[in-house]
Amino acid sequence: MIKLHDLYFKPFITEREIAAAVERMVQEIAADLGDECPVFVGILNGSFMLVSDFVKKYPKPCEVTFIKLASYEGLKSTDDIQRLIGITQDLTGRTVVILEDIIDSGKTLAEVHRIFKDENVKELKIATLFFKPEAYKKDFKLHYVGIEIPDKFIVGYGLDYNGLGRDLPEVYQLKTTQHMKNLVLFGPPGAGKGTQAEFLKTKYNLVHISTGDVFRFNIKNETALGMLAKSYMDKGELVPDQVTIDMLNAEVEKNTDANGFIFDGFPRTSAQAKALDDLMDTKDSEISAMIALEVDDEILVERLLERGKSSGRADDANEEVIRARIAEYYKKTAILKEYYSAQNKYIGVDGVGSISEITERLSKVIDGL
Ligand code: AMP
Repeated sequence: MIKLHDLYFKPFITEREIAAAVERMVQEIAADLGDECPVFVGILNGSFMLVSDFVKKYPKPCEVTFIKLASYEGLKSTDDIQRLIGITQDLTGRTVVILEDIIDSGKTLAEVHRIFKDENVKELKIATLFFKPEAYKKDFKLHYVGIEIPDKFIVGYGLDYNGLGRDLPEVYQLKTTQHMKNLVLFGPPGAGKGTQAEFLKTKYNLVHISTGDVFRFNIKNETALGMLAKSYMDKGELVPDQVTIDMLNAEVEKNTDANGFIFDGFPRTSAQAKALDDLMDTKDSEISAMIALEVDDEILVERLLERGKSSGRADDANEEVIRARIAEYYKKTAILKEYYSAQNKYIGVDGVGSISEITERLSKVIDGL
């Protein structure tokens, strides 16, 4: 992922894919033009990389020139096309091939046709590396198209966002969801995840999703999901992955405008972690970090028995169930430490101390992400 000015872009078309598309265009055009010596006309600024790569590969003699038009302001193609440099040589009787980096609405192309209307060229052909069929509003024929792309803003390989990005050898696409902070709050039962999540969600304007809370809500309301989950929860066991993953997906979907999420109690297995990565991917986003509250087992048991006196949670009242939950955590969920460490996203935080001390430690970590 890259950031240009205020926006984030994700990798979209690789250098290799671009080179292959340019090569195809070269072959097609060379085959069509035979021994004709064409004049390739690049449309500045965006086409400079394409023109350079294209003519280096072109197998026969050719001429190269440029015209300079400007239409983009930020992310929007404006109606007002400015002609900054026009044709500077006589093209009467010549075969001209326009080399465009991208054609979207076709406004620039309309201006190109206006420019060439009185030039008495033998033939005017249009070649474009990228083409957005969904955005194209004109009828001009496009003779050669490198790669068709969806109607999303791209940068790189000559294309810019407010001046930046032209130098990139590959192409990036604007992320539809801008930068979300997605935290996995991790730690054994009783580590204080729920308590800390309450503070952090307000401080960072994030949506807190606790799978345990959602299950308890369903049990209270006697839903089918609640009844199913209860049989596992009462024994301190994990609810099956697919049930939990489907429920989590539904909770995330309810919050389409979120700034980011705090996942609390999820993921607990590597299948859940993988499912969460996939879900974030569909949101054009990713998990920023797994922050783990580290607390000794004996302190956990003590805390949970204490909480059981007032929480009314059946799984907090019994020391055996508490120890089973802690054991379950280490057995099944500690592998998540490896999963996120491998992505360089695991951060351990000392979970022993006063609530505000721990909030402060967590905030420091989040601010540094
Ligand atoms: P918690 O409130 O996070 O301690 O969760 C209480 C119980 O809900 C757990 O012991 C599990 O039975 C169930 N549960 C919560 N989250 C998950 C999850 N991600 N996967 C499977 N079971 C879960």
